[in-house]
Amino acid sequence: MKIKLPKLHNQILIALIAGTLFGTFFHVDQNLLVVTYGSTKSLNSIHIKDWEKIQLVVSDNESVDTLSYNQNSQLEILSVSKKVLKDKKGISLIAAHSYVDGELYQLKEVSEIRKIEKEKTIATSIKWLGDIFIRLLNMIAIPLVLSSLIVGAASLGDIRKFARIGGRTILFYISTTAFAIIIGLVIANVFQPGNQMPADTKDRLMSVYQEDIAEKVQTQFDFDLTKEIVNVIPRNPFDAMANSNMLQIVFFAVAIGIVLTVINKSKAEPVIAFFDGLSDVMIKMVDYVMIIAPLGVFALIAATIGEFGFEILGTLIWYAIAVIFGLGLQMFGVYGLILKLFTKLNPLQFFRSIRRIQTIGFSTSSSAATLPVTMEVCNENIGISKSITSFVLPLGATINMDGTALYQGVAAVFIAQVFGFELNLTQQLTIVFTAVLASIGTAPVPGVGIIMLIIILRSVGIPQEGIALILGVDRILDMCRTVVNVTGDAVAATVIATSEKENLEFKSA
Ligand code: ASP
Repeated sequence: MKIKLPKLHNQILIALIAGTLFGTFFHVDQNLLVVTYGSTKSLNSIHIKDWEKIQLVVSDNESVDTLSYNQNSQLEILSVSKKVLKDKKGISLIAAHSYVDGELYQLKEVSEIRKIEKEKTIATSIKWLGDIFIRLLNMIAIPLVLSSLIVGAASLGDIRKFARIGGRTILFYISTTAFAIIIGLVIANVFQPGNQMPADTKDRLMSVYQEDIAEKVQTQFDFDLTKEIVNVIPRNPFDAMANSNMLQIVFFAVAIGIVLTVINKSKAEPVIAFFDGLSDVMIKMVDYVMIIAPLGVFALIAATIGEFGFEILGTLIWYAIAVIFGLGLQMFGVYGLILKLFTKLNPLQFFRSIRRIQTIGFSTSSSAATLPVTMEVCNENIGISKSITSFVLPLGATINMDGTALYQGVAAVFIAQVFGFELNLTQQLTIVFTAVLASIGTAPVPGVGIIMLIIILRSVGIPQEGIALILGVDRILDMCRTVVNVTGDAVAATVIATSEKENLEFKSA
């Protein structure tokens, strides 16, 4: 008997749900610390669980400090020990487990600590399977962007058609992004998530994430618009490819594509044929990679959920709800309306046909890793021509980040509210302007949106350390905003194809 497997998008959906359940079940224990101690020659490790009180004794040549923690302080202990060990200070730990007659007793002591970590569970230790999946998609993305954009730009035929489609695409991207930020700002002003946060929660989050923030703020560059524009032009295109600098690759590929339309046909044709072949190879490769998509998605989600601190989600629930509500509005409201107004397609059917793009975007948190899937699905399931998908989609994956921009709007107002800043209209307009630019500059990989948020915070004078408040839930919100980012690209390709009078028709995948 032949077993009939569900369709690929259903397999991925099942993997997503199963991964979530698996990750929830094999969740990292938030009342457990794995402490590695001893001399470099004989390292031991011990599990410390369900403490009532923990003291960290931190010492260097000059002083000895004792820091005390109650239950549910796993994150603080991890953060402080990371900093202490980085500063090369000595650290020991004393854990008291239970009370008898009001006195703490049953002590466990560990000195010469080398590392304090969370435990690994089966859910977090299968992450490597997901990493293989993401790497395979990333491996395809750069050659695909290069080859398909060259062919895409060359196949637009003449410079006038190129300018028309290019102009429309960029206008579409910038206006939907501006709309998304405005939605984010309105929602944050209406929900006021920052005003629901107690002061002690704020202090706790600031201390837990201070180390991570110090690293992120350090790597941050100063934003200079003219410098950014100059930077779009690669000094060396191979260097741009080696460093996955998508904007520079897009620029180089489009330049080659345009010039191919003006040189002698006999010279241009073999070059176009070569890149067309390369692009087909990459797209075919996506089919093969998709064979392991359910496994990859399962592992990625299980590891993320297994590692995630749900306790943090509790403290940031209003903020998370505001972001997710805004993303939903952008997706079903704005995109639904755009599809209704500018195409003849049924929005519901549209969303159904791009399920695969959304589930891959959600689980990889990367528009770049999803791009090969976006291109294939738009081409095969919606019937958009290759000349449109190969131009509009790589450009979109690079510069169009509506979900990220919306999230940045909510996050900026949220942080301002927690710090007690009133943002006036001019400041909110500055946020719109800066977030459009920041979202263009955001690299299509996980977690960059929060780094670009620093630029926005700086532009209106909100303390950039404020990102410590939202870092704990960033991974989950990154997954959600990436879904909107990739959906926005697919909507753009559909609208542009309609404006070019392409005959679009849904096919089930
Ligand atoms: N992960 C997002 C993307 O790839 C970018 C971000 O917001 O961090 O689209």
